[in-house]
Amino acid sequence: MREKIELILRELEPYMAELVAVSKTKPVEVLLEAYNLGIRAFGENKVQEMNEKEAQMPKDVEWHMIGHLQTNKVKYLVPYVYLIQSVDSLRLLAEINKQAAKINRVIDCLCQIHIAQEDTKFGFSPEELWQMLQNLHFANMPYVRIVGLMGMASNTDNMSQVRNEFRSLRTLYDEVSRKISSPQVEWMHCSMGMSNDYRIALEEGSTMVRIGSAIFGAR
Ligand SMILES: *Cc1c(COP(=O)(O)O)cnc(C)c1O
Repeated sequence: MREKIELILRELEPYMAELVAVSKTKPVEVLLEAYNLGIRAFGENKVQEMNEKEAQMPKDVEWHMIGHLQTNKVKYLVPYVYLIQSVDSLRLLAEINKQAAKINRVIDCLCQIHIAQEDTKFGFSPEELWQMLQNLHFANMPYVRIVGLMGMASNTDNMSQVRNEFRSLRTLYDEVSRKISSPQVEWMHCSMGMSNDYRIALEEGSTMVRIGSAIFGAR
């Protein structure tokens, strides 16, 4: 694991991109091994699994929710989550705000954008994102802060398609960060790239990669 992490970190360095180690399905012992190699940001896609791991891992771990989040589960992760990368509706954002208000904590969120051809993936279309960001001003949600965008490319061998999808996400990120400014947004992250496509994502302007199998092995 050490060599894999070191290689990835060396590749990220020229881009100043951050690594989120996607540890879904892996046991706590494996996460601890990564922790002991210096990893602090871990990505999980299920609330219950993340809760169980959070209880057992050191307190300085940064927990990233990267999977589709149901509104009724939000209350279980707001006390500790570091970044919710998978906000895919205004309704979900409102629920995060409501639960975060109860504990007086501001939760950083990324809006997930649907960039893939497949229709199985969650996320806003670019049009929906613009709409949402323009209404945010009126929505009165002081306990959420939008800090960027997240997207997943199509699961395909067609790397030019993957590249185009990443490019469209980075272009959208540049546009919204130029045009949308409000106390509730701070444009910091364009989260794109997984084990099979992170090098392309970096070339296309990723600031945060989410890598699982290339670190921990196949699931
Ligand atoms: C599982 C997952 C990843 C990591 O996938 P790998 O191919 O194992 O690197 C990244 N992002 C999201 C949203 C995921 O669900």
